[in-house]
Amino acid sequence: MAAREIRMDAAQGVIVQGWRSSEDGLFLRVRGQDAELRLVCICGRGHWIVHENDSEKGAALLLICHHCGARGTFPMERVRASVPRP
Ligand SMILES: [Zn+2]
Repeated sequence: MAAREIRMDAAQGVIVQGWRSSEDGLFLRVRGQDAELRLVCICGRGHWIVHENDSEKGAALLLICHHCGARGTFPMERVRASVPRP
Protein backbone atom coordinates (compact mmCIF):
# COMPACT_ATOMS: atom_id res chain seq x y z
CA MET A 1 0.00 0.00 0.00
CA ALA A 2 1.59 3.24 -1.13
CA ALA A 3 1.17 6.04 1.32
CA ARG A 4 0.41 9.51 0.08
CA GLU A 5 3.19 12.02 0.43
CA ILE A 6 2.86 15.48 1.78
CA ARG A 7 5.51 18.14 1.71
CA MET A 8 6.38 19.90 4.90
CA ASP A 9 5.49 23.31 3.45
CA ALA A 10 2.08 22.02 2.39
CA ALA A 11 1.35 20.31 5.69
CA GLN A 12 0.56 23.34 7.82
CA GLY A 13 -2.68 22.95 9.65
CA VAL A 14 -2.69 19.21 9.96
CA ILE A 15 -3.58 17.71 13.30
CA VAL A 16 -1.43 14.69 14.04
CA GLN A 17 -3.15 11.78 15.73
CA GLY A 18 -0.30 9.33 15.48
CA TRP A 19 3.02 8.74 13.83
CA ARG A 20 5.54 6.07 13.15
CA SER A 21 9.07 6.19 11.91
CA SER A 22 10.37 3.52 9.56
CA GLU A 23 13.19 2.93 7.11
CA ASP A 24 10.96 4.48 4.47
CA GLY A 25 10.47 7.68 6.39
CA LEU A 26 8.04 9.23 8.77
CA PHE A 27 4.37 8.42 8.46
CA LEU A 28 1.70 10.58 10.03
CA ARG A 29 -1.86 9.73 10.82
CA VAL A 30 -3.75 12.99 10.66
CA ARG A 31 -7.26 14.08 11.42
CA GLY A 32 -9.58 13.86 8.45
CA GLN A 33 -7.39 11.46 6.47
CA ASP A 34 -8.00 7.76 6.45
CA ALA A 35 -4.60 6.94 4.97
CA GLU A 36 -1.20 7.67 6.43
CA LEU A 37 0.82 10.51 4.98
CA ARG A 38 4.54 10.26 4.42
CA LEU A 39 6.07 13.55 5.37
CA VAL A 40 8.67 14.86 2.94
CA CYS A 41 10.95 17.79 3.66
CA ILE A 42 11.37 20.79 1.38
CA CYS A 43 14.81 19.29 0.58
CA GLY A 44 13.14 16.16 -0.72
CA ARG A 45 14.22 13.83 2.07
CA GLY A 46 11.82 12.06 4.34
CA HIS A 47 13.70 11.26 7.50
CA TRP A 48 13.12 13.26 10.65
CA ILE A 49 14.25 13.51 14.21
CA VAL A 50 11.02 13.39 16.16
CA HIS A 51 10.24 14.79 19.58
CA GLU A 52 6.92 14.79 21.31
CA ASN A 53 6.40 17.84 23.45
CA ASP A 54 3.72 18.11 26.06
CA SER A 55 2.82 21.47 27.52
CA GLU A 56 -0.15 23.08 29.13
CA LYS A 57 -1.16 24.36 25.71
CA GLY A 58 -1.33 20.83 24.39
CA ALA A 59 0.86 18.26 22.79
CA ALA A 60 3.00 18.98 19.77
CA LEU A 61 5.18 16.98 17.46
CA LEU A 62 8.53 18.64 16.82
CA LEU A 63 10.39 17.54 13.72
CA ILE A 64 13.90 18.24 12.49
CA CYS A 65 15.01 17.07 9.06
CA HIS A 66 17.95 14.67 9.26
CA HIS A 67 19.35 16.04 6.03
CA CYS A 68 18.98 19.83 6.02
CA GLY A 69 17.91 20.64 9.57
CA ALA A 70 14.59 22.21 8.62
CA ARG A 71 12.16 22.27 11.52
CA GLY A 72 8.47 21.80 11.75
CA THR A 73 5.88 21.67 14.48
CA PHE A 74 2.49 20.08 14.33
CA PRO A 75 -0.19 20.01 16.99
CA MET A 76 -0.98 16.56 18.27
CA GLU A 77 -4.40 15.35 19.18
CA ARG A 78 -4.21 12.79 21.89
CA VAL A 79 -6.67 10.01 21.51
CA ARG A 80 -7.19 9.25 25.15
CA ALA A 81 -8.90 6.20 26.37
CA SER A 82 -11.93 7.24 28.32
CA VAL A 83 -11.40 5.36 31.53
CA PRO A 84 -13.98 6.19 34.16
CA ARG A 85 -12.43 7.41 37.36
CA PRO A 86 -13.13 5.33 40.44
ZN1 LIG B 1 15.34 18.61 4.79
